[in-house]
Amino acid sequence: MNNAIYNFQLPANEPVLEYKNESPERKQLEAEIQKQILNPIEIPLIIGGKEVRTSQTGQVRMPHNHSHVLATYYKATEKEVQMAIDSSLAAHRIWSDLSWTVRASILLKAAELISGKYRAVMNAATMLGQSKNMYQAEIDSVCETIDFLKFNAYFVSQIYEMQPRSAFNQLNKMEFRPLEGFVFTVSPFNFTSIASNLNMAPVMMGNVTVWKPATTSLLSNYYLMKIFQEAGLPDGVINFVPGSGALIGKVALASPDLAGIHFTGSNQTFNYLWKEVASQLPHYKSYPRLIGETGGKNFIFVHPTAEPKEVAVNAYRGAFEYQGQKCSAVSRMYVPVSLWPEVKEELIRISEDAEMGDILDPINFINAVIDEGSFDNCMNYIDYAKDSAEAEIIAGGKGNKSVGYYVEPTLIVTTNPKFKSMEEEIFGPVLTIFVYEDKKLQETINLCNTTSPYGLTGAVFARDRVAASAMCEQLRYAAGNFYINDKPTGAIVGLQPFGGSRASGTNDKAGGEFNLIRWISPRTIKETFQPATEYRYCYMME
Ligand code: NAD
Repeated sequence: MNNAIYNFQLPANEPVLEYKNESPERKQLEAEIQKQILNPIEIPLIIGGKEVRTSQTGQVRMPHNHSHVLATYYKATEKEVQMAIDSSLAAHRIWSDLSWTVRASILLKAAELISGKYRAVMNAATMLGQSKNMYQAEIDSVCETIDFLKFNAYFVSQIYEMQPRSAFNQLNKMEFRPLEGFVFTVSPFNFTSIASNLNMAPVMMGNVTVWKPATTSLLSNYYLMKIFQEAGLPDGVINFVPGSGALIGKVALASPDLAGIHFTGSNQTFNYLWKEVASQLPHYKSYPRLIGETGGKNFIFVHPTAEPKEVAVNAYRGAFEYQGQKCSAVSRMYVPVSLWPEVKEELIRISEDAEMGDILDPINFINAVIDEGSFDNCMNYIDYAKDSAEAEIIAGGKGNKSVGYYVEPTLIVTTNPKFKSMEEEIFGPVLTIFVYEDKKLQETINLCNTTSPYGLTGAVFARDRVAASAMCEQLRYAAGNFYINDKPTGAIVGLQPFGGSRASGTNDKAGGEFNLIRWISPRTIKETFQPATEYRYCYMME
């Protein structure tokens, strides 16, 4: 037994490579993309470290070219979900007993594999499967995934240092037990890094997981699972179970050993999971921890002293990068009438300049939305605006799903601050703008604060720094990640811990100590050196 006290140093964030034309990383990526296009793969379930195939299959297709099949995947039935639960419980003992430094070293090795050997694989799979351009794939599937892995190893060493005081005649210790049972991890399509972290954060703390990946991100998520195995993750610690969310969720939630849910996705799904857990509460061995990051209706609020060009550029990037499918994407904006002509002119100029198309052509700023359901949903909102007397579309407004699911980045200007697309999450490339009278600044800040049920991200733009501070205060609960003079997307692990309040989730700030702490159930151990030998207390004696 090595009794040294280890700690892990604060890591640096993974540098983002530039992928300039003819650069070595670009050539490697292009070769890997071609390889993945030309060689469709099979995606089995991975349970207890073993590949499992069932009689039910589905296909993974490119959102930007949906006739092209990238992979055939196998779907879990109830039997395989139960197998995954059993295998996770079997792995619990060995994994939770293992020195935490060994657990951390597996995370760090996974980070190294993604940084080097599998960088192109992760990027290509995320580009092809989730329709991200090479920059969006690099900052997500490589850099953020690595940051989550490395920062978790650092933060865990900080948590484990926390010990209670000891007093006279006693020694007190805190043991950081993982949860008793398995964690059900349910990941969204839009960030490969989130899928990684939903599993690896609880796993770092000694937990085991049953992982239900989103069907539309299966390609990158399968490669992630393979990398975790290559990094040394013991069999059964993470069990990869693609298939129907409703079916997998039903079996997982029926298990008395459900110790927690680590979720990122829509409110609808999280609310369903929460209600199901609540309805079965007496049946669980412990109260399941419910950690979920959900929807958003993120805003930019423009003060009359803002710089119009900065507003337009940041609004465009914040609303339309990755087709508005970042949970943090801007989808409503408040602009004073005094600045509107300049902001509008610049927004239209960028709209006319920015190209949309296949991820293979790096000129394209915008690519396809994830699937037909998303395409139809976006077009419904756009059509609603077209038919409304309260709205005008000043850019975009068209869509085409014949080859890929392409929705033009769309700017809607509304006269109604409570217009449907100012209130509801669309999760696509649609930005709605309300132009307010400068003298109604306070009233409009209140509107911004109360218009949507969410509280994920928000930004204010102002050159008047005192006004920016006042808005920051007034919008205190409107966003869990708040920005001054910046777009509200692009949070970086270790720099801007991420998560929202109100209907946007439990706000446990993924990638930091707040989240990790949710995956432990501490045990306090008191040892007394001289136990009592007399039952009476002093005051009872002569
Ligand atoms: P989604 O809710 O449709 O799916 C998320 C996951 O839940 C998928 O794996 C899906 O298969 C699974 N699922 C669906 N029904 C289920 C059930 N009954 N039981 C168990 N699992 C079930 O969400 P999505 O479309 O993948 O992601 C988009 C949403 O995620 C948006 O609302 C976005 O705002 C949100 N999101 C939030 C954050 C954040 O940090 N707040 C980050 C990313 C995405």
